[in-house]
Amino acid sequence: MVGQHARYGASAGALLLVGGGHAHVAVLAEWIRHGPPPDTRTLLLTPDPVLRYSGMVPGWLAGQHGKDEGLVDIAALAARAGVEWLPGRCTALDPAARTVTTDSGETITFDYASLDTGGVGQGAALLGDDPRLVDIRPIEVFTERLAAMPAPSRMVVAGGGAGGVELAFGLRNRAGADPLPQVSLVTGAGGLLPGFSPAVRSRVAKALARQGIVLHHAEARFADGAIMAGAISLEPAELVIAATGSAAPPWVRASGLAVDGHGFALVDAQQRALSHPHIFAVGDVAARVDRRLAHSGVHAVKAGPVLAANLRAVLGGEAPRASYRPRRHSLYLLNTGDASAIATYGPFVAEGAWVLALKHRIDKGWIAQYAALAAQ
Ligand SMILES: Cc1cc2nc3c(=O)[nH]c(=O)nc-3n(C[C@H](O)[C@H](O)[C@H](O)COP(=O)(O)OP(=O)(O)OC[C@H]3O[C@@H](n4cnc5c(N)ncnc54)[C@H](O)[C@@H]3O)c2cc1C
Repeated sequence: MVGQHARYGASAGALLLVGGGHAHVAVLAEWIRHGPPPDTRTLLLTPDPVLRYSGMVPGWLAGQHGKDEGLVDIAALAARAGVEWLPGRCTALDPAARTVTTDSGETITFDYASLDTGGVGQGAALLGDDPRLVDIRPIEVFTERLAAMPAPSRMVVAGGGAGGVELAFGLRNRAGADPLPQVSLVTGAGGLLPGFSPAVRSRVAKALARQGIVLHHAEARFADGAIMAGAISLEPAELVIAATGSAAPPWVRASGLAVDGHGFALVDAQQRALSHPHIFAVGDVAARVDRRLAHSGVHAVKAGPVLAANLRAVLGGEAPRASYRPRRHSLYLLNTGDASAIATYGPFVAEGAWVLALKHRIDKGWIAQYAALAAQ
């Protein structure tokens, strides 16, 4: 079906932003600060009017801030940036025909497109299906489901990465829970915090033990209706949360874009699709060919201004030149849910209430800058 936007972009300079992720909010901000590129119409296709900042979800669980404090008002930013927001999801991309199909069946044409949709959950694929399983992706669905259910007293978090660890801490310290819920953290084959230094792993393991969170270095899976950590049954459990990393959205591989072995869009140092230079991709949906970048919000956020510069360049008929070069180490601040946090930067590690205060200042500052721009 061809929808009302079918001819959108028939004139030169039509840019389609697919997904209102952490990098695309930076593009909107750049359009607001410096004006949209001349002779360009920009459309943003994303399902929700807000972006939920995942870094503040564990703090919400632990009662450190309100559920909706970590929201960026994308619809308001788009309006301020002169960008048309179309609520919906991309379900198919045809790079050669320069079209995107949405979940409502509309076809959108573009001259240039940029993908920032994040990844999709893979909990059911890895653990098996069970009515108690809740995936952390999409994060807005996860948050609403948890907010709507009575606080469980026994739960399992599957996934030993930073997201799983922070959620285990947040759930153990769930606001208003008395007694505190029983939480098991099952790391998977990669172990606790793969990619982090031994010093931070040991610090986090001590904090988990101190708080009574039971750590299993095993694979989580459902077997005969029971949630298992390897050969050990973790029943009874009322809730099983999958924080098992993100998979590539299936429409990326199906589009014919060059992808890596996991189906993420392969991009060069300018975030340009290797196979189709009029398509850009950034954040968790993309994989850089020139360097290995972890799928993390930090990288999506920092690549945002670079992407904005490159989109402005190509829309002005110039070559994109900007490149996001991550520092050797990234600062991670892991909320331990008990009024404290653990900081890690490469081999350096520190812990305390001051780390949590720093985390809150950085997180709230990030949200506030967009709130101020939207209100201008
Ligand atoms: C609990 C938790 C805590 C985390 N904490 C941290 C942290 O402290 N630091 C850190 O660096 N990382 C953290 N992460 C990882 C971080 O959330 C992701 O790496 C980051 O969100 C990726 O950003 P993105 O811009 O690629 O996509 P996203 O932030 O996922 O945004 C994608 C957007 O696109 C929209 N969308 C999705 N599919 C489509 C589609 N088909 N069509 C159109 N729009 C679509 C979505 O609705 C969303 O608005 C955490 C993750 C979790 C789950």
